[in-house]
Amino acid sequence: MSAAASARQILTRLHEVMASRLHAQAKLDRVVEIIGESLTSEVCSIYLLREKMLELFATRGLNKTAVHVTRMAIGEGLTGVIADNVETLNLAEARAHPDFQYRKETGEEKFHSFAGVPIVYRERAVGVLCVQHVEPRRYEEIEIEALQTTAMVLSELITNAELVDEEEARGLTDEQTGPQTLSGLTLVKGLGAGQAVYHQPRVQITQVMAEDTEAERQRVYRAFDKMREQIDDLANQAEFGGKAGKGGEHEEVLETYKMFAYDEGWSRRINEAIDSGLTAEAAIERVQQHTRMRMREIDDALLADRMHDLEDLANRLLRIVSGQLGTAAAQSLPKDTILIARNLGPAELLEYDKRRLKGVILEEGSLTAHVVIVARAMGVPVLGRANHGKGGIRACVRDGDEILLDAGAGTVTARPTTQVADAFAARFAKSRERQAAYANLRDVEPFTRDGTRIQVMMNAGLRDDMSALAMTGADGVGLFRTEFQFLVSATLPQRERQTRLYRDVLDAAKDKPVIFRTVDIGGDKSVPYLASDMAEADENPAMGWRALRLALERGGLMKAQARALLEAAGGRSLYVMFPMVSEPWEFDAAKAVFDEQLAFLRSKKKLSPEAIHYGAMLEVPALAEVLDMLLPKLSFLSVGTNDLTQFLFAADRANPKLAQRYDWLSPSIIRFLRRVVQGSVGSGVDVGVCGEMGGRRLEALALLGIGFRRLSITPAAVGPIKELVRRVDLNDLTASMTAWLGDPSVDLRAALMAWAEERGIELD
Ligand code: PEP
Ligand code: MG
Repeated sequence: MSAAASARQILTRLHEVMASRLHAQAKLDRVVEIIGESLTSEVCSIYLLREKMLELFATRGLNKTAVHVTRMAIGEGLTGVIADNVETLNLAEARAHPDFQYRKETGEEKFHSFAGVPIVYRERAVGVLCVQHVEPRRYEEIEIEALQTTAMVLSELITNAELVDEEEARGLTDEQTGPQTLSGLTLVKGLGAGQAVYHQPRVQITQVMAEDTEAERQRVYRAFDKMREQIDDLANQAEFGGKAGKGGEHEEVLETYKMFAYDEGWSRRINEAIDSGLTAEAAIERVQQHTRMRMREIDDALLADRMHDLEDLANRLLRIVSGQLGTAAAQSLPKDTILIARNLGPAELLEYDKRRLKGVILEEGSLTAHVVIVARAMGVPVLGRANHGKGGIRACVRDGDEILLDAGAGTVTARPTTQVADAFAARFAKSRERQAAYANLRDVEPFTRDGTRIQVMMNAGLRDDMSALAMTGADGVGLFRTEFQFLVSATLPQRERQTRLYRDVLDAAKDKPVIFRTVDIGGDKSVPYLASDMAEADENPAMGWRALRLALERGGLMKAQARALLEAAGGRSLYVMFPMVSEPWEFDAAKAVFDEQLAFLRSKKKLSPEAIHYGAMLEVPALAEVLDMLLPKLSFLSVGTNDLTQFLFAADRANPKLAQRYDWLSPSIIRFLRRVVQGSVGSGVDVGVCGEMGGRRLEALALLGIGFRRLSITPAAVGPIKELVRRVDLNDLTASMTAWLGDPSVDLRAALMAWAEERGIELD
């Protein structure tokens, strides 16, 4: 008999038992007989989770008196290990396994071989199904598969019959029902409370046994077709222009996806599982369980990565087959949502309703990744690198759990006790008070104690952000990231749409200046409609064909933006800034595009700006070496410390593994920045900082101390930084900074903290 036919036979017999009117215990008793007979196995036993212990519920072959007597803790003995790791064991000699434990009452001493599979419900083991043999041999693959299929059916039976209690049936262990605190890295400070929502909801399999095998097969065929189409589309976008296969992580992943999507073995195994009588969903899941088991046996990091890709793809297939498409953004969100994701792109985050989003928890993430910048601008606290070892956050936080997020403290509490919730509420109230105090500074000009006026501007990117200008009392917009409009748009924004946006922004700013930065796409800000072009530079996107480099070559893009900006600012002042200028000629080339468009507008007698101020961003270290050549061309310079530091340290700003490695207060950065300020003295060019660094109080102190007088920061930081400015005596600070920077033994962070503390300046 073929493997599928024998599996099918088991399934048919199980089906009869399940459909019978027997009570649950009798059904389990029948199941162990059926499996034992079918696998000609002397022993077949079912252990189920009860009161957090695995209890022997039914057996054929062991002493019946052991039923409901033998109990093992999770992690104890072979069954405990299977449940704990949610993995299959297949052993020729059970005793040889280090976790083997002998239970006298069972009479199992005569059995040598052992195989067991977890009974899984919602990704957790709620029981174990195992077989034992006198003869020492490993079970065959088809036998293991039969066990896995049976375990899926049992999971349905067990939960329907409420054989394990509700919490346990949901697979909840102590760590998933009691309060849990996880820690992570502060990405955007702030407090948030709400319900856990996963960005990519898991597909729940509700039916395991098929009614109509042929119909299930068709469903899987169609899903495979659709999935392949999707993967091909993604790959084609990347390959457009015939420049495929240039490596790069993104392409590698796509290649792997493609390989799996077309893998005959994978689709064949799913088909066989359907042949054995499973539904399409159950078949996909069963094959996946099996692959997981095989992969676990191979200890190879590269394969583990591939496994992750395959999991992604299997999940995609499951979503297609079950019609549960899309991310949580497409569903109706709870009023207060704490979003959980492995990682997110900035565009994905922007799809969420900002009013409902009270916090984000990422398993990855880094301080200057654009998704984090977007969240910061949205005023949404973000905790990154939140992990929980085996199984990730999912192992201890469920959809819908109550969550308290204290991103500043780097902690998140799931299912808090009343005391913890009360304490949190009190802190929340206090923080609102503090925010209100900052809001009171709105109309207060930020002068230092010695009377120097500091320009505190804000960063923005969308029309909605402009309301923050009046709310915070910032001096203007020091960085308007025009590419955000490109990120939230499904297609390339047309010139008219851009003009409207820029005009609205200028209207909203009233007479305050807005520095528009021309598009900076590429790097971690990829847009689907330009993906084909950008794929060429994908190997190292942050240093690739991005920002001005891309804009100058895609002349149409830059021209359209120049026209839009010039028209929008008709009759007013226009501030334009170019990103990622690496050599002075790039500034000239960019400005030439504007000059050309300006000439065109004038020739058409259209209203043009009454004054245009051109500036550059200093993000590429090389530019600092040629400031003397560049500065005469500029009216202002803005240091983008996010990119600058990634290039100075050769440390990808979006790589979570490097998120905490280097310090903005390291001597290399601060000395470098000081040289830039000193190099511009006497040039008449206004020099400021517009990276995230300037919005952090301690880092802002350092920047003021080395001579910066203009900071453009995230809106939420405007109040706190104004307050800081008012407490600082610049002479005192500058003298201290100068002394510290001249002394290699000084730890700048510690010195600044002590300095602030001595003067009663709070730093958070
Ligand atoms: C920077 O690089 O510091 C910057 C402000 O630009 P962005 O973060 O948008 O790259
Ligand atoms: Mg930048």
